Amino acid sequence: MVLKVYNTLTRKMEEFIPLQGKKVNMYVCGPTVYDHCHLGHARSYISFDVIRRYLIYRGYDVNYISNVTDVDDKVIYRAKETGEDPFTLSARFTGSFIEDMENLSVLPPDSRPKVTEHIHEIIEALKTLLKKGTAYVTQKGNVYYDLSSSVEKIGVLSHQTAEGLLEGSGRRVDVEDDKRYQLDFALWKVVPEDEAGWDSPWGRGRPGWHIECTVMSMKYGSEQLDIHGGGMDLIFPHHEAEIHQSESCTGKHPFSKYWLHNGFLTISKEKMSKSLGNFFTIKEVLKKFPAGTVRFFITYTHYRSTVDFNEEALEEAGRARKRLLNTIYNIKNALFDAPDYDKDCGLGELIEQTRYAFITAMDDDFNTREAIGDLFVFSRKVNSIITDEEPGKASLNHVIGLFSEIDEVLGIFDDSKSCAPEVNIIELSEDNIIELISIRDNARYNKDWKKADAIRDELKEKGIALEDGKEGVRWRRKG
Ligand code: AMP
Ligand code: ZN
Repeated sequence: MVLKVYNTLTRKMEEFIPLQGKKVNMYVCGPTVYDHCHLGHARSYISFDVIRRYLIYRGYDVNYISNVTDVDDKVIYRAKETGEDPFTLSARFTGSFIEDMENLSVLPPDSRPKVTEHIHEIIEALKTLLKKGTAYVTQKGNVYYDLSSSVEKIGVLSHQTAEGLLEGSGRRVDVEDDKRYQLDFALWKVVPEDEAGWDSPWGRGRPGWHIECTVMSMKYGSEQLDIHGGGMDLIFPHHEAEIHQSESCTGKHPFSKYWLHNGFLTISKEKMSKSLGNFFTIKEVLKKFPAGTVRFFITYTHYRSTVDFNEEALEEAGRARKRLLNTIYNIKNALFDAPDYDKDCGLGELIEQTRYAFITAMDDDFNTREAIGDLFVFSRKVNSIITDEEPGKASLNHVIGLFSEIDEVLGIFDDSKSCAPEVNIIELSEDNIIELISIRDNARYNKDWKKADAIRDELKEKGIALEDGKEGVRWRRKG
């Protein structure tokens, strides 16, 4: 079976072959930390988390790097508004972002470098570019990349002409009067004395946005990456700028072999973004919905498609996920009375087919939508086998094993870090009880006894008694 990925660089599905054997250097652009992150960010980081987890599942040795942009015009402006020191502000929101990622069960990157800790390396990279003649310093002390030195690379990723870029996405390019050419991008910007900045050979200033990713991906990964990821809005100018400057720095091509871009999470068909003000923070959403439901909502759409957010859609995702959780719970319940001797009832073959279907779907450019669809089919079949027949303990445990194996990649069943276990518990339906039991199971697995006891007490208060047995938990309504 062959893993294929859609490469923005070639606009084709390509077989995934890393540059060096099984080693995968993967870099994903991190957030600019001037506010709490919203669900659009969650979309990007959950998508790449699943991609990373799947690569690990397929036996690759993944080195995952994701930066934090902790100094930038937006950080400075926000700090001016709040009267805070910009570094204190960005440190606060970096903490908030890391907390959100933990709560969403996004695996921590192997390296999470911050721009403010790499100013020296950035200055060194600019010196290299200036020495090579691919950058220039202006009278004002700004440093720009000189696109005339690599015109052939203009539009390599966006697949547009220079004219098209100037007209369309060119809006996103800084308009400065000291540039030689409008598409040239800033590598170093001079700043006034009273603004956050660092001394450099060109005067006090701070780095332009793009150069940080070049420098940090090389320091923590390699001069040539296997995968570079980010949201679609980063294709131009950010990622194209990275290609120009990185390839100029090292003389090596390609800077990244595969470029993967996630589609937008929208709200009423418009991209969720801080600047448009149409956002829900991850914290707000996690107060109402368990992390597994948020992950399910995001992964039940292919990462390159658009996903439109509204509360009903999340509720629907929660209901769909519960159908799968119920199956897991049914199996755990069936284990109580299951025979000890080997009785397969076709489950072994079903497990093999489902694993094969999962790999086939995920090998097709990480098609999580199809993978979850297959899981529903599996779930229905398992339920009917449990109802109609009496499979043995070993077979039932293998079914649970497959759910866990798949969840190592998708992370949709693990609510152990969820902030919202109390969801919908005013009136406990059977589904709610099962969900709470599964959250408690996870808490116990993670030795979070406080949380596990709190859930047990909460259930007790609502008249639900739990019996912990060798095979799992059984529940009954009291009185
Ligand atoms: P930013 O902090 O705006 O630089 O965004 C950090 C990452 O999140 C980038 O890869 C963006 O493309 C991605 N991102 C931001 N908003 C959305 C959204 N609404 N949908 C999908 N990805 C997003
Ligand atoms: Zn970047």
